[in-house]
Amino acid sequence: MMKSLVPVHQQLSVPSVSFPGAMESFLPQIRRDKVVIVMGATGTGKSRLSIDLAMKFPAEIINSDKMQVYKGLDITTNKVTEEECFGITHHLLGFVDPNVDFTANDYNQVASLTVETIVANNRLPIIAGGSNSYIKALVHDNIEFQPRYSCCFLWVDVSLPILRAFVSKRVDRMVQAGLVHEVRRFYDLHMTNSIGLSRAIGVPEMEKYFRNENEVNLKEAIEKIKANSFELAKRQLQNIPRLQKQLGWDMHHLDATEAFVKHGFEADEAWERLVVRPSSRIVGDFLYK
Ligand code: ATP
Repeated sequence: MMKSLVPVHQQLSVPSVSFPGAMESFLPQIRRDKVVIVMGATGTGKSRLSIDLAMKFPAEIINSDKMQVYKGLDITTNKVTEEECFGITHHLLGFVDPNVDFTANDYNQVASLTVETIVANNRLPIIAGGSNSYIKALVHDNIEFQPRYSCCFLWVDVSLPILRAFVSKRVDRMVQAGLVHEVRRFYDLHMTNSIGLSRAIGVPEMEKYFRNENEVNLKEAIEKIKANSFELAKRQLQNIPRLQKQLGWDMHHLDATEAFVKHGFEADEAWERLVVRPSSRIVGDFLYK
């Protein structure tokens, strides 16, 4: 489950290349009221699954991570890289001024417009990201969206101890890829506060180190980023079954743990068998049955 960390560029928010091209003409037309939602805690592989699905169905991806909507901190917020996108069009990534608060209301407006544009082109919107409050606001509370679309919910899950180890290694890889320098530049250019991108995990922790607050050293700051990322994963994970229960969402649970325990080819095989194949079947039934 390794991912390369070449920073993604802002053109990802601009519709560009789309896949699968020629294959689309063989598929029955998708009804214009279908949306797939990929949920899961940070680190579980939501982006990977949404790209895997977009390579099988004529789809475009809409980000629903509340920190990835902002311009900047591509490494720190773990935006999908150009290399990982495989030419699949991604929307709502890196397009908001990092100094303003982008509310759930703002998200509703742009996300529902984006969904409309995608379905108008006979393509399937796949909404993927960890911000459960954005997803709830769009799918449940938004009158532009709620009566018009029917949703298929996929929940990618990984057992917590395994996810903890993965998230910790992911932070190490982010540091190797330049997280410290990236946050330093952000810190030098912006007034950090409690709105906008300043809230991203990585900013307050590194700020303490830059300011030498309580003599926090770099190692301690990185450990704090790991701990806070794991806390976020736990919170997100607790929220999903709660939403399922409260709102009666019919979620398809995909346990990806085995793919995170294995390595190399075996990990890829487990991912394909446990996550991609079952979810492709579920989405196929949702779209065409
Ligand atoms: P909450 O109501 O707690 O904000 P939520 O579902 O709306 O929950 P989450 O996506 O869980 O939003 O984000 C909560 C917080 O976690 C963010 O305010 C931010 O501090 C941090 N966070 C979320 N996503 C990222 C990310 N990609 N990179 C860094 N920090 C993040």
